[in-house]
Amino acid sequence: MRSIQDAFPLLQSPKKIFITTHHKPDGDAIGSMLGLYHYLVKKGHTVYAVSPCELPEFLMWMPGVDKLYNYESQIKVCQQLLTEVDLIFCLDFNDYSRTKHLEAPLAAATQPKILLDHHLMPKPYWDYGMSIPEKSSTCEMVYDFINLCNDNDLIDTQIAECLYTGVMTDTGSFRFPITTASVHSMIANLKHHGLEHSKIHEHIYDSWSESRMRFLGYVLTEKMEVFPEYNAALITLSRKDMGMFDTQSGDTEGLVNYPLSIANIRFATLITERNDEVKLSFRSKGDFDVSAFSRAHFEGGGHFNASGGRSKASLKDTIANFKKILSDIHP
Ligand code: 5GP
Ligand code: MN
Repeated sequence: MRSIQDAFPLLQSPKKIFITTHHKPDGDAIGSMLGLYHYLVKKGHTVYAVSPCELPEFLMWMPGVDKLYNYESQIKVCQQLLTEVDLIFCLDFNDYSRTKHLEAPLAAATQPKILLDHHLMPKPYWDYGMSIPEKSSTCEMVYDFINLCNDNDLIDTQIAECLYTGVMTDTGSFRFPITTASVHSMIANLKHHGLEHSKIHEHIYDSWSESRMRFLGYVLTEKMEVFPEYNAALITLSRKDMGMFDTQSGDTEGLVNYPLSIANIRFATLITERNDEVKLSFRSKGDFDVSAFSRAHFEGGGHFNASGGRSKASLKDTIANFKKILSDIHP
């Protein structure tokens, strides 16, 4: 992959640009996509930002969500756009399979592709870009990209709100070790560009429905197992559990982090039964590499302290398999 600077000549004249991100997008995925969208539009480009699927409710306030395409519900028009554009930006993922239905169309596209991502071990698909696992978030990398283009003065309140969202969510509100001095400098700069940060926290964290709060209570009371001997905890959710509280897309967001607030718990897992597969989310504190764990056992990957994977076995068998592995490895 060539450096991002090598791609700058491609952006010298107005271009048609396709931006996409990973399936089940989170705050960093949508924040980076919309932050880059607003910036590239200001630079005179025609930009199409495409989410692989619908957005969770807690992101629906973001500036520019009305401009997004949804690949799942607008497949024909998105496929057409992909053939028409001059350039493709891929944000916050390291493997086409993370976009689910966009995997094959992206692989088939022949236009130059640019990656901005902070996951470990990217696939070698991209022509240009930055892959930096030491970065807090893809939003931080979009900020770096804008600065590399000498365009800090183009950052406005909309761009600042989008970029703040991803940095805030991916750093656990600035508490994870990945929160560097550069992150805090970036936030100071966004404040100079008009950011009202507490508004963003309210949008993301204080916008729960009553049923989501009750669901959390149920999950922590009934669905969490703690294994003090392994410094680990496990939450498992069946489709029936989700149905009991009328859960919406995004309502399981952040659940996996709760067990890490128990003293001495350093490895937390959430196993969720989906329609077509079983999804696993892993979080750790300290020196246990959940990205390697996920790659080794559950076809996944991600970051050192936050990763995900999947299983084709039933929920029951996946849970049994996970517990067997846990007792074998003693993280
Ligand atoms: P989450 O648990 O929130 O789904 O994912 C945690 C982190 O791991 C995210 O940064 C996400 O992008 C990454 N991740 C989740 N699932 C997978 C997967 O199946 N494969 C890879 N390579 N990364 C994943
Ligand atoms: Mn991210």
